[in-house]
This record gives sequence, C-alpha cells and structure tokens, in this order.
Amino acid sequence: MSDADREIQERARRFVDDELIPHEVEAEMQGGRLPDDVREKHHRMAIDLGLWAMNMPKELGGGGLSMFQQVLVSEQIGRVTNALGWCVHTPAAWAPAVVSAEQLERWIVPTIRGDRHECYAITEEGAGSDVDAIEATARRDGDVYVLNGTKMHVTSFSSADYVFFQAKIDGGPNAGSHAMFFVDEDTPGVRLVREPAYTHTFADTHAVVAFDDVRVPMTNLIGEEGDGLGFTYEWFRYERLMIAARCCGAAERLVDEATAFAKERVQFGSPIIENQAIAHMLADSVTELWAARLMTYELAKNVDRGVDLKVQHAQCSMVKLYASEMAGRVADRAVQIFGGRGYMRENVAERFWREVRVDRIWEGTSEIQRNIVADQLAKRGVRTLAG
Ligand SMILES: Cc1cc2nc3c(=O)[nH]c(=O)nc-3n(C[C@H](O)[C@H](O)[C@H](O)COP(=O)(O)OP(=O)(O)OC[C@H]3O[C@@H](n4cnc5c(N)ncnc54)[C@H](O)[C@@H]3O)c2cc1C
Repeated sequence: MSDADREIQERARRFVDDELIPHEVEAEMQGGRLPDDVREKHHRMAIDLGLWAMNMPKELGGGGLSMFQQVLVSEQIGRVTNALGWCVHTPAAWAPAVVSAEQLERWIVPTIRGDRHECYAITEEGAGSDVDAIEATARRDGDVYVLNGTKMHVTSFSSADYVFFQAKIDGGPNAGSHAMFFVDEDTPGVRLVREPAYTHTFADTHAVVAFDDVRVPMTNLIGEEGDGLGFTYEWFRYERLMIAARCCGAAERLVDEATAFAKERVQFGSPIIENQAIAHMLADSVTELWAARLMTYELAKNVDRGVDLKVQHAQCSMVKLYASEMAGRVADRAVQIFGGRGYMRENVAERFWREVRVDRIWEGTSEIQRNIVADQLAKRGVRTLAG
C-alpha cells in the first residue's frame, strides 16, 4: 500500500467507526431508517470526505480512485450493518464512456454531485440468473421509444429519481437485442407496484415496478440498440469485486467483535476462548478472511494493471464467490460464539448473519459464479485464472 492508499483507507475507517457504527442499533430498531438530519449529515460527510462517487473520473467531479483504493474504501463500508454505508454511493462507472454529452449533463454529472440518484431495473419475474430471458420491450414509435415490462427487486427505487431500464428491442433490424434506457421516475406510466419485506433491515427497499407504455425520447437510449447486456456485465464485474470487499470488511468486524467477546465471556470459571472449540472457530474465520482479502486486493490490482477482460470476468466471479461464502461462514460462527446474545437483533453478529446472506444471491448467485469460473477455466486453463 502506498501512503495515499493508507490515507484513504484510514479516512474511510474513521468515518465508519465514528459516524456510522454508532447508529446501527437505532437503525435496526427503526426499520433501517435514521432521522432525516442524521442521513443528511452522513450524505454530506461522504461527499466532503471525497468518498462519494469515488469510482467516477476526477474531471467529472468524481474521486478518481484506483480500483485498489475503491476496494479499500468498500471494505471499510462493509464493516457497518444496516446499509448505513450506502451513503458512500458509487454511480455507474461504465456510463461516462458510453453516454451522450446530453445524458452526461442530465443524469451522470448530477449523480456524481449527489443531486440525483439512480436504480437498476433488470430482473423480472421470469428472468433472474438468466438475464437474457427478460420480456420487457422497447418499441420505436416515431422519435420516441415505448417501454413496457414489470421489474422486481429494484433496489433503492424509492430514494432514486431515475432508472436504468433494460429491455429487448421490439421490431426493426435489431429486434430481440438488449437495450438500456434512462427513465426518469416521474415519466407517465412508471408505477410502483409494491415494496415487499426482505430479510435485512435496510431503509432502502427492493421494489416491484411496472412500466406501462412509458414513452421516452430516442435520446434516452444509452449507446446503441444491442449494447444493453454489455453495460450490465460491466456493472456486474464491478459490483462483484465490491461485494467481495464489503464481505471482507464484514468478516473483519465479526472476527474482531467475536474475539473480544470470547476473551471476556467467562463460563465454567474461564474465558470461553480457552475452549478449543471456540478458539478454532476464530482461527478458521481469520484464516479465511485473510485468504479472501488477498484475493480481493490482488484482483483490484490486476484491474488497475489492465489484465484481460475475460480473465477479470472470471476472477470477479471467483472473489465474489469465495468472499461471500466466507462471510456467511464467519457470521454463522460469530453467532455461535455469542450464544444467545448472537440471536438478538441488537447484536452485530445477528445483523450480519442476515445481511451477508444476500451476497451469495445478488449480482449473480454462487451457482452462476461457479458456472462462469468453470467456463473460463475450460477455455483458459488454471494458470491464467489462478497463476
Ligand atoms: C435484496 C436484493 C436486491 C436486488 N437488487 C436488484 C436490483 O437493484 N436490480 C435488479 O435488476 N435485480 C436485483 N436483484 C435481483 C438479483 O440479481 C437476482 O435475485 C439474482 O440474479 C438471482 O435471480 P433469481 O432471484 O431470479 O433466482 P433464479 O435465477 O430463479 O435462481 C434460483 C436458484 O436456481 C439457481 N440457478 C439458476 N440457474 C442456474 C444454473 N444455470 N446453474 C445452477 N444453478 C442455477 C440459482 O443459483 C438459485 O439458487 C436483487 C435481489 C435481491 C435479493
């Protein structure tokens, strides 16, 4: 790590320790929500500390951090529960290279400033892992596109003001190909269907949203007809690496807190850490954390070095798979070490135990990550993927 790397890591760590972690239990007890003034303070601080939009180019007002530095920050963000770390928002890093000048000004630059907020509407009832199975359509009608479809699990729809909407082109020379659109949420025909309850306690919901004959100008199309899936894959790669980083952060916090508890908690006259059964759970957890962290850091550096995109694709799947499953094991052990306290919602292990579960599902399930890794292994060999 360079001095600059250490400095940004420390800046993020202090923000998490001093400003976010103290609000976790309050958020848990209030359905994930904090008072507006506290949320606003966190939002402003994330911007002032240079953590907001850390992944966006400096010339557009972003942080311009290297991928390695972004991983260091995301790891710290992963140490806090209840998604309080989401105040450190990373907009769509793939967008500046592909959007038009008008789109940049209207959606991307205001998002980097923190004035606008996006969400992603890709998944549908019949299309989850199989993104190509989406039934949402985009049909040209003169100089507008007419969008139709119902999306589910749309994270942050209620706090966002525009949507990245993925559909298949209906008619014309590119019929059946994927396309991505900017859709302002106040466009007629965009309708919140419901906000189901999920396992974690987050302020942000995951909505079902209907798009009924939503008419958007042709200028809302991102890139060309047929480009949509490529943007989604780029976003997946980025998010998979950041999920791995956040899982490392979660595991560090869990090992830290469980070790402190095991040293203090006395049963049968001695601290429970003196029982090999407890000590070994901690030893396994810290060992697996180290392995996941090394993988994650190495991949981030590979991305900064510009390694082949297909190799990156496989390695992003490898780190997401390993780190998310590692965090699940560590959280489960931590609950066990805390005993009955570990089953209480005011306990950090209980919250993480529920929260890290989704890391094995979103942005591609563990099974899908294994499919990607196996496919790349067959094509490129072990030395390319793990050399
Ligand atoms: C909290 C949360 C937030 C989300 N946020 C968003 C969002 O903002 N925007 C968005 O568009 N989507 C979002 N998603 C959707 C998420 O990406 C999908 O849930 C995920 O891709 C899995 O799709 P699915 O749930 O339909 O499961 P399915 O694809 O139906 O899979 C069900 C099971 O079958 C397995 N399976 C499927 N295919 C294969 C295969 N080929 N080989 C082996 N096993 C297989 C899966 O691994 C899984 O175990 C979110 C999901 C959650 C839970």
